[in-house]
Amino acid sequence: MSHPCLRCGACCAHFRVAFHWSEAEAFMGGTVPPELTERIDPHRVAMRGTQARQPHCVALQGAVGTAASCSIYAQRPSVCREVIPAWEFGAPSAQCDKARAAYGLAPLTPEDWIGPDAGEPVLPQSA
Ligand code: SF4
Ligand code: SF4
Repeated sequence: MSHPCLRCGACCAHFRVAFHWSEAEAFMGGTVPPELTERIDPHRVAMRGTQARQPHCVALQGAVGTAASCSIYAQRPSVCREVIPAWEFGAPSAQCDKARAAYGLAPLTPEDWIGPDAGEPVLPQSA
């Protein structure tokens, strides 16, 4: 069994991914590549592509619902790290369910986490 997020990616293509500008400034300790962000107000930037009518993060690779991954996984913003896939740690996630539903994907269940490869989360998400 592969990690469910690797067969999903919906939350990277459903929400605006906004965060404090300092996360994209190396001199502030930020890790997010600034060229992948755009300013939305004096305090925040967003991942490019996520402010569109149909959001799709510029860092999302692959196809939603089939095979997806984050091209900046180790450098992704805090809001992405805060998204917990439903039932990965024994709790539901309305954010995960909502994004999946937008793509016609059923909500994850506890059974989705049973298997030898159910390891690290891969595609956390958005604001
Ligand atoms: S957190 Fe949920 S919506 Fe986001 S990629 Fe994982 S399974 Fe899909
Ligand atoms: S996890 Fe990666 S692909 Fe998904 S929204 Fe965040 S930066 Fe974009």
